[in-house]
Amino acid sequence: MTLGIDRQTEKGLILSVVIPCYNEQDNMEALLDRLVSVCETAVPGAYEIVLVNDGSSDQTWNMITRASDANKSIVGVNLSRNCGHQLALSAGLEICQGEEIFILDADLQDPPELLPEMRQKLAEGYDVAYGTRVHREGETWFKRFSASIFYRVLDKLSDVSIPRDTGDFRLMTRRVLNQLNAMPERFRFVRGMVSWIGFKQTAVPYRRDERFAGETHYPLQKMLRFAVDAVTSFSTVPLRLASHLGLLCSLIALTMFGWVAVNFLLGHTVPGWASLASIILLMGGVQLLVLGIFGEYLGRMYMETKQRPLYIIDQVYRQEVCENPVHQYLEDIRKLVND
Ligand code: UDP
Ligand code: MG
Repeated sequence: MTLGIDRQTEKGLILSVVIPCYNEQDNMEALLDRLVSVCETAVPGAYEIVLVNDGSSDQTWNMITRASDANKSIVGVNLSRNCGHQLALSAGLEICQGEEIFILDADLQDPPELLPEMRQKLAEGYDVAYGTRVHREGETWFKRFSASIFYRVLDKLSDVSIPRDTGDFRLMTRRVLNQLNAMPERFRFVRGMVSWIGFKQTAVPYRRDERFAGETHYPLQKMLRFAVDAVTSFSTVPLRLASHLGLLCSLIALTMFGWVAVNFLLGHTVPGWASLASIILLMGGVQLLVLGIFGEYLGRMYMETKQRPLYIIDQVYRQEVCENPVHQYLEDIRKLVND
C-alpha cells in the first residue's frame, strides 16, 4: 500500500494522536500498547501521542507521566480541572504539532488499527477521514436508540451536513486543524465544527467495540446537554419552530374565540370550565417551552460574551522539557518586579 509523500513538520512529526482521558487508569496500558505499535509501524519515530488528563480523580495522570518518562513520543497535558470531553480534546488539538492529526477515545472503543486505512484516504487527497459506526458493541439498546435519534434529528435541523453515526474518531490534515483551532466558540461540538470547515471529507466504516474497562462518562443528563449543545451550535431551527408553534397556538386560540363568541350569542355559555382550564394549561405550557428555547440560546450568548479561556493548562509533560505555563508566568512576573 502506498501512502504518498509523508508530510513532516520541522520537528520531524508526521502524526499527532490526541486523546482526552478522564478516569481511564484501567485502559491506559492496553491503549498505549496497541497505539504505540500501530504508530511505530505507520510512521516510526515520527509521531507524538498527546494524552490530555481532564481532571481525573484516579491514577490516570500518574500513568501518563510514567508513560512519558518511558517513551519520548508521549506528551502529557494536565488540565486544571475537569472541563469535559470536547474541551479536553480541544486542549490537545491546540498543543499537538504533527501534520496529520488522529483523534481517539481512551477506552479503545475506536480501534487504533484503523490508522493505515485513514492515512490511505489522506494520501488519496482527502483532508478528513472520519470513522462511521456500522455496529456498536456492548452498548445498551437505550444508548444505541438515543444516539440514532440524535444523529438523525441533528442532521435534519442543522444547516451544515453532519455525518450520521460519526463520533470524533478521525484523521485530519493540519490545514483543517488550523481552521478548527481558529474557531473560538465555547460550546464546542468538534465533529460538527470539522464538517462545517469543509474540504474533502470521507467516511471509513468500522465496528465500534465495547469499552475495554470502566463505565461511560456520558450518563443520560450529560448526553442531553451534549445534544442541546450540538443543536444550538449548528442550528437556529428551534427558534423558528418556537415562532411557528406560537403562530399555530394563536390560530387555535382565535378559532376557539370564534366558537366561544358564537356560543355566547346562542346563549350556551354556562358549561366549559374543563375546556377553559385545558386551554389555559396548554397555552401556559407552550409559552414556557418557547421561552425555554429562547433561554437556551440567550444563555449561550451570555457565556460566549464573557470570552473566558476554554480551559486552563496546569502542565505540559514531555521528556526533554517540562513546561508549566502558570509557573512560567509567575516566574516572569517575579523577574519583572525584581528588576
Ligand atoms: N472524557 C473526558 N472528559 C469527560 C468525559 C469523558 O476527557 O468529562 C473522555 C473519556 O476519557 C473518553 C472520551 O472522552 O476518552 C469519551 O468518553 P466516554 O467513553 O465516556 O463516552 P462514550 O464513548 O460512552 O460516548
Ligand atoms: Mg467510550
